[in-house]
Amino acid sequence: MPEQPPAGRAGRVVVVGSLNTDLTVTTARHPHPGETLLADAVRRSGGGKGANQAVAAARAGGAATAMVGAVGTDAEGDALAAALERDGVDTTALARLDGEPSGLAVITVDAGGENTILVVAGANAALTVDDAACAVVATADVVLAQLEVPQDVVAGAAAARRPGALLVLNAAPSAPLVPALAEQVDLLIVNEHEAADLAGGADRSLDDLVGTLLETVPAVLVTLGAAGSRLQRRCGEPLVVPAPVVRAVDAVGAGDTYCGVLCAALAAGLDDATAMRRASAAAALAVQRPGAQDAVPTTAEVEAALA
Ligand code: ADP
Repeated sequence: MPEQPPAGRAGRVVVVGSLNTDLTVTTARHPHPGETLLADAVRRSGGGKGANQAVAAARAGGAATAMVGAVGTDAEGDALAAALERDGVDTTALARLDGEPSGLAVITVDAGGENTILVVAGANAALTVDDAACAVVATADVVLAQLEVPQDVVAGAAAARRPGALLVLNAAPSAPLVPALAEQVDLLIVNEHEAADLAGGADRSLDDLVGTLLETVPAVLVTLGAAGSRLQRRCGEPLVVPAPVVRAVDAVGAGDTYCGVLCAALAAGLDDATAMRRASAAAALAVQRPGAQDAVPTTAEVEAALA
């Protein structure tokens, strides 16, 4: 494991990932193919796992945070950048790509809470590793990435981090990892479905799945929804942190909040158990509110929940 920064100072998190506009349409029921329906309402909000995790690291985790990503030169790109900047996220390495639409997720939610999601990757798929991205990555204590941008781009950006800086990969949406990325990962974060996808086998025990993943990466953290989270390093016993018992109204963005806050805490030099407790407290606050970025709590709210 690379060394972590000394405790007692705020660290710096650089998120490499996606930004999307979430267009959420609420409707009594989903239309059948070829059918036109009148929906109830539409809500537009900032999304994309990368942007959500950057907001979580900055707002809830209190870390100096920068974002490496790409949007179009459209109005949606302006709004996505502005949303990050409102939370103090450094956007100097956010590329504005001519001729590419900003990422878009069209989400329909029916009266039973069942959803469908169509994602147009747009600029996210056209992200490349440029000098600005490398310069920002080189300032990180922790680089946090997901799989909504090309894996070779994540691998290229991560390679610019300084010795001792951690690469934390939230392998969502799950996909087999290319060796150039897998060999750099210090900590893999997955939920139970992603663990099964990546390790290959839904009918195996969690221990068994994690054992397989540890053949590729040195540490695996599995988030378990209301059951909490579990970290296993190659050596030692698993560290299990229960989730606070709360009344969840919307689990969207729980994982993103957890990842962002965990990395903020690790960047500040906190130990695994303390970092996981902070992340769990923040995610438990997020599930009590609707939305993704909107649901991310402030550092003060996280502190109050931990007190
Ligand atoms: P994802 O959103 O990626 O599927 P999870 O559902 O595992 O991830 O949630 C991530 C984390 O959010 C969990 O490890 C837990 O700390 C917190 N969390 C999720 N659902 C709840 C809940 N109902 N009550 C309290 N905490 C929750």
